[in-house]
Amino acid sequence: MRNRFLDERTARDIDTLVAKILRGLGGPEPPLVLDDVRALQKLDRQYYSSIDDGPLREFVSRAYIGAKQVFARPTLILEVVRKRSLKALYLPDRKRVLIDSSQPKLKWRWSEAHEIVHDGVPWHQDAMFGDTEYTLSPACHEQIEAEANYGAGRLLFFQDQFREFASGSEPTFELIKSATKRYGNTMTSTIWRLVEALDIPALGIVGSHPRGSADPNRPAQQCRYFIRSRTFIGRFGSVTEDAACAVLRAHSSFRRGGPIADGDVILVDDRGERQLFHLESFYNGHEALTIFVHRRPALVRMPVSGVGSQKNASIRARR
Ligand SMILES: [Zn+2]
Repeated sequence: MRNRFLDERTARDIDTLVAKILRGLGGPEPPLVLDDVRALQKLDRQYYSSIDDGPLREFVSRAYIGAKQVFARPTLILEVVRKRSLKALYLPDRKRVLIDSSQPKLKWRWSEAHEIVHDGVPWHQDAMFGDTEYTLSPACHEQIEAEANYGAGRLLFFQDQFREFASGSEPTFELIKSATKRYGNTMTSTIWRLVEALDIPALGIVGSHPRGSADPNRPAQQCRYFIRSRTFIGRFGSVTEDAACAVLRAHSSFRRGGPIADGDVILVDDRGERQLFHLESFYNGHEALTIFVHRRPALVRMPVSGVGSQKNASIRARR
């Protein structure tokens, strides 16, 4: 999945909602307490799982948009939830957030904030019922999801306060760790927010171990999130996901925990100029979390390895 930036007006509208929530809480200090947000927004929270799907059954019987019943077959929503492995739902008629309790607990926080934003954005009310593709065209669904994710990030990271916090230090893993601690969110969401907040070219990758699994039967390197800053998109549009992953792989160790890469690499910008990036990658035992941060133009001609050259001539890595 790739990050996408909202148009200015939509972002502003969602920020108005987030600001209202933070104001309503009396301008709290991080980390945000979601129990307080739910109390403020008069929202209820329940959990469901494949073992206990009771809350979903209740939803099914009330799946209406206006006066129109959306699902002819009552079991359909259960099938949809399972098939698409939805992590959370929001039931407008009950003012209720439903969280899939089988996903890792750390991730509940993001899901809950995401659904809280769905609740607060007026134009999401009619558009979304359980985030299914049945009520929305894929493009519209994607837009609404991007909006809810934007709002969740702005809420959990206290809007521009995070940018101020981050701008005081170099964008490194040290900063990501301290921001993770301060805001109480996952490292993945912290990387996402950091890369989007940076006004220099930066790239975040979250995926499987770049050197593949220890188990030969498991698939090779996979990229789950490919996150680019605005200036990266503007200046390095030709750097593809595959090419960036190839650079990461070439610079990673086989270690199965902790830091797996830390060094300078070169990416070639859209004008054909070689640019120096600092690459850091950390394997948490489950996924590799990676950032590339632009440093400066690479003035000295350095020997290049052939990484990525077969697939994409615009990218080269230095060993
Ligand atoms: Zn959603």
